[in-house]
Amino acid sequence: VKQIRTFSDQRLEINCSYCGEKPDTRDHVPSRILLDEPFPENLPVVPCCSKCNEDFSLDEEYFACALECALRGTTEIEKLKREKVKSILLNKTPLRQRIENSFIIKNGEKLLQIEEDRIRKVIIKLAKGHAKYENSEPRIENPTKIWMKPIIVMEQSEIDEFFAILSHNILPEVGSRALQRLFIDVDSNVVSNWIVVQEGNYQYSVIPNIGLFSVKMLIWDYLAVEVTWEERD
Ligand SMILES: [Zn+2]
Repeated sequence: VKQIRTFSDQRLEINCSYCGEKPDTRDHVPSRILLDEPFPENLPVVPCCSKCNEDFSLDEEYFACALECALRGTTEIEKLKREKVKSILLNKTPLRQRIENSFIIKNGEKLLQIEEDRIRKVIIKLAKGHAKYENSEPRIENPTKIWMKPIIVMEQSEIDEFFAILSHNILPEVGSRALQRLFIDVDSNVVSNWIVVQEGNYQYSVIPNIGLFSVKMLIWDYLAVEVTWEERD
């Protein structure tokens, strides 16, 4: 991951990126549970409070395990591919059982009924983390819209739209990484809003537009997510 120093780094960090309280620790965005080892150097980190840090960890574990089991259609350890998920499920039989019990058969297909609240919680957290890292200012309030869909069931036009390179019709906050990336991209003529954290595992894009602020994520080249905040004023 290309690290860009921001001027805003020099400001005093006074808010947890997720709840707005006083931060006393730092958090990786994306969570390392979604990446493979060896981890990329310079993973983005944002200020965070210990309460949020602890609050999210079980849901992140669930998120990674449920996603992997949904992808493979099973909770059988031998049939899973992600080492991290395998070791969590080996050690946490109740979690494995819980996911196993959420599988249903529909039209002859084995499908996982996800615990939507927990998935949404992790998605919002990731989006808030990216928003804070790219745009300096935290987004404490919850987003107005969350959209997610597996790539494999998306129409080509939907995929094209999801990855479309957008022109920023307002400039990101002065001193923010988003603004610096914009300049760098224009200079090198490779205009892309996507930041690849780890090839095949995680990329994201932060799009500050008039009236709308949105964060897109592609997780494991499988789950496409878009989180949107409508600006109130
Ligand atoms: Zn917090």
